[in-house]
Amino acid sequence: MSIAENLQKIKQKISEALTRSEDPERLVKLVAVSKTFPCEKILEALSAGQNIFGENYVQELSQKYNELKDERIEWHMIGHIQTNKAKKILEIPTFLIHSIDRIDLAIQLDKHLQKLGQSRDVLVEVNTSGEASKSGVHPDEVISFVRSLKNFETLRVKGLMTVGALTDNQAKTRNCFRKLRKIFLDVRNEGIDRIEMIELSMGMSSDFQIAIEEGATIVRIGTAIFGERV
Ligand SMILES: *Cc1c(COP(=O)(O)O)cnc(C)c1O
Repeated sequence: MSIAENLQKIKQKISEALTRSEDPERLVKLVAVSKTFPCEKILEALSAGQNIFGENYVQELSQKYNELKDERIEWHMIGHIQTNKAKKILEIPTFLIHSIDRIDLAIQLDKHLQKLGQSRDVLVEVNTSGEASKSGVHPDEVISFVRSLKNFETLRVKGLMTVGALTDNQAKTRNCFRKLRKIFLDVRNEGIDRIEMIELSMGMSSDFQIAIEEGATIVRIGTAIFGERV
């Protein structure tokens, strides 16, 4: 199967999952996760009409951004950002940073953004699975964390992101996504100044249909588009 065919198939599944969801009219954004794949594959997807790409290492995103320098591409940073990489990630005009998970990182990003006279759209990553290996704010701490972000005027909070549980148990996965949507609505109900709750970034190759049924507005898909990573 070619990248174009894979994209076609995924878009079909996205629209089918949407019809099973509460708000079938909404737009779902597809982020093609190109990590570990060379720029040729990104160009192949781009010629098939896919213009949103996600990377999860700062260094790799930076390399690909500089190699491609293609205005058509909307870059998303979806991975963990080390505090000492805050400056580096801001060299790239990312459309959205999905992975704000601690105050140290927000402080560093804000400091460098102030110097640049820029701002960024960001999501708060939440650890909905409870797996120790995963990044993300604890579900009970999201509201207070988001409150602390309202003071950083360079960071525009647009919503939440999660990586679902690593399991074959679909009920468990669905629970993670339900939990994220509930927190999203709770934060929205708080009506915190400057904080918007618009985007729910959840769902990967193995679970994006469940995520869409549970309200995802952004899905992040790698393997199902580009094949297995080696
Ligand atoms: C790699 C990755 C994805 C995509 O995973 P696939 O299973 O290849 O679709 C999505 N989100 C994050 C945060 C990732 O690191």
